[in-house]
Amino acid sequence: MTELKTFETIPDGFWTVPVTGLKDLLGGPSLFYLKGAREPALFVSTLLHGNETTGFEAVRDVLRRHIEAGMPRSLWLFLGNVDAAAEGLRFLPGQADYNRVWPHTPMTGLPEIALMQEVVKRVTAEPLFASVDIHNNTGRNPHYGCINKLETPYLHLAALFSRTTVYFTEPRGVQSIAMADHCPAVTLECGQVGDASAHKHAVDYLEACLRLHHIPDHPIASGDIGLLHTVAVVKVKPGLSIGFDPDDTDISFRQDIDHFNFGRMPSGSVLASVKGEDMPVYVTDENGNDITDSLFDLRNGLLILREDIIPSMATPDARVIRQDCVFYVMEQLGVAHLPA
Ligand SMILES: [Zn+2]
Repeated sequence: MTELKTFETIPDGFWTVPVTGLKDLLGGPSLFYLKGAREPALFVSTLLHGNETTGFEAVRDVLRRHIEAGMPRSLWLFLGNVDAAAEGLRFLPGQADYNRVWPHTPMTGLPEIALMQEVVKRVTAEPLFASVDIHNNTGRNPHYGCINKLETPYLHLAALFSRTTVYFTEPRGVQSIAMADHCPAVTLECGQVGDASAHKHAVDYLEACLRLHHIPDHPIASGDIGLLHTVAVVKVKPGLSIGFDPDDTDISFRQDIDHFNFGRMPSGSVLASVKGEDMPVYVTDENGNDITDSLFDLRNGLLILREDIIPSMATPDARVIRQDCVFYVMEQLGVAHLPA
């Protein structure tokens, strides 16, 4: 397996190293334990995707504030794919996606799976306060938290970051699904890399998690959370070229595809122009069923939406579409879904 590096102190050079230099400084995926005034420890992971740097920059700034006087709460920090970070990539060719290989993943036999098992084993040897996994996305999205259990502490942990909260159960290999077995767990989506407001938002959130005495146990007020549920994912079939200029590629998405994120894309909208006669995308619901035909029509070379949807994570980045998806399909969850 990829060897996990462990640290109980901050190495020289950490405070100034660019994210691309972490690989050389640390030697690989790294788990830090920093003892603080209060237990149990908070677990923070970031750089599971090597090009999503807001989490690292934010957690380093939080550490910088506290390292002299001591952390307000003990902290486990996992810096994941520093190899991909060195190249500015989500993951390297030949690597698995570091946020698809955590316990409950349907994948088998990968070195990255053993790595995440080792991380979980170490950080869960003692109770945890909460788990926070920090990401960025591409395209226009609000900052939001994702949870995988509709239970009160999980909802509070997410609402502490943003009113917009996404509940999902697929893909199963993500960090927050694995950690939800052990403690309240959230994935933070901090918008686009380099966004100063995302950095500040993540810093403030981590600071709050370190200082919070306990996660509230009273039922969350329905007005404090706008809960959406991921019901399906839209992907491009393998082997097709993807772009945004109708003359160039097999499938060419509309350039403003990300403007609909967390809003409404109405029935009849044209999503893309398509070369050839075959449906270029496939849509899978959370049970793995193919529901492409209920969502899309292909007419006169145009991919047309058959019903109103709420998309999320749509992006004008062809590489992200290829590596991840075109977008997720969301539905609003009403108050009835909140625990009383
Ligand atoms: Zn990510």
